[in-house]
Amino acid sequence: MLLAVCKGQPAEAVAALAAAGQRDFGDNYVQEAQARQVALSGDPRAQGLAWHLIGALQSNKAALAATLFDWVQTVDRAKLVPLLAAARPADRPPLNVLVQVNIDDEASKHGCRPEDAAALADLVAAQPRLALRGLMAIPAPAEDPAARRAAFARMRALFDAIAARHPGVDTLSMGMSDDFELAIAEGATLVRVGTALFGARPPKA
Ligand SMILES: *Cc1c(COP(=O)(O)O)cnc(C)c1O
Repeated sequence: MLLAVCKGQPAEAVAALAAAGQRDFGDNYVQEAQARQVALSGDPRAQGLAWHLIGALQSNKAALAATLFDWVQTVDRAKLVPLLAAARPADRPPLNVLVQVNIDDEASKHGCRPEDAAALADLVAAQPRLALRGLMAIPAPAEDPAARRAAFARMRALFDAIAARHPGVDTLSMGMSDDFELAIAEGATLVRVGTALFGARPPKA
């Protein structure tokens, strides 16, 4: 799946890409996503889209996220799981969830430790209002493509182990504009592409 990452882009750029057939869009910030969805709510080009949260989720925004998004790709701690499940509206399908893994163990990054991913996945899978779909990672920037490839390969191994225990798991989200080909070669099923689709992000106002 190609996820179009639209952070920082005007609603019009999203509507134009939707008119060209793109269905899945990713945002980093809950409030920005909400503003964009409101702006596009009356636009016939932008109906039936699937919205993904790919930025860090604060606990106090979990309830809003559970109503705005179809996917939350950044579940990285147990505390978020009951908050998202409790807030998912009853008239919507279960919220699709990816467990975010800090695959390079960077102190500055979000994501659970690789050794904690299976337990967190089990917690998500136990919630009827959540649908465990897989894993997400943002590997450390690496000069060396071999290091990047190794991080993707470690994610794939982790993903295969979790998929073997959970039948609904089908999504491995990794790879961005500058490394999506490598990610796909290593088994990504979803790539998150911003600048390569939209061009450079406009400067913040
Ligand atoms: C911004 C972002 C992307 C897209 O990055 P590009 O380099 O513009 O393709 C993908 N994933 C996450 C988590 C992001 O924050």
